[in-house]
Amino acid sequence: MGAKMLESLRKAVYDANMELNARNLVIYSFGNVSGIDRKSGIVAIKPSGVPYGKLSPENIILVNVADGKTLEGTLWPSSDTPTHLEIYRNFPEIGGITHSHSKFATVFAQAGFHIPCQGTTHADYFYGDIPLTRKLKKMEIERDYELNTGKVIVEKVRKSNREAIEIPAVLVAGHGPFTWGKTPEEAVEHAVILEYVAEMALHGLRLNNMSSSLEDTLLDRHFLRKHGKNAYYGQNK
Ligand SMILES: [Zn+2]
Repeated sequence: MGAKMLESLRKAVYDANMELNARNLVIYSFGNVSGIDRKSGIVAIKPSGVPYGKLSPENIILVNVADGKTLEGTLWPSSDTPTHLEIYRNFPEIGGITHSHSKFATVFAQAGFHIPCQGTTHADYFYGDIPLTRKLKKMEIERDYELNTGKVIVEKVRKSNREAIEIPAVLVAGHGPFTWGKTPEEAVEHAVILEYVAEMALHGLRLNNMSSSLEDTLLDRHFLRKHGKNAYYGQNK
């Protein structure tokens, strides 16, 4: 990978991390965004525990997707790096990943509840309910915790009848959301939308016990008009 490409990957990951912070999805140094260059297998990710005000494209860490080895950077990469890498290794269509403890999505994760697709705002971005992983077993927490977090996410996506890119978010039970997209920028957009639909879903559940999902016809209509080969939303006709 050339120096120029590394520079643009770092910049994209830096920008996406700052956007996550600007959208109020994180407090203090919580949260992280990564991006991958598929050709070289290099992942760029936020350094661990660095406040957003001290981030710069230069201190974004570069690691190898295969084994997590740091290629460039003197700081430690985010402690969630093994989770990101496991997701990248399993879903080649993904180019960026976000993790936050955004309030309403985390409320669902902590309550042990998936986020039901109650309306078209949700269906525009996610092709069905936002799934919740199983709880990690004692052994999985004690050893390789972050890698095992990635594994339960992958397991949940594989058990669903959707592609990873069709429902670009999973709630980790008792923890919080991971979202992804084709780019780091898109992963953050999905984290923002996820938080928005989580807040609405909670109100829906309170008002009307709306744990049932939007009817399939409307879900298909909204998701498929924006995504897939026959999409016609926006200017991409
Ligand atoms: Zn976390």
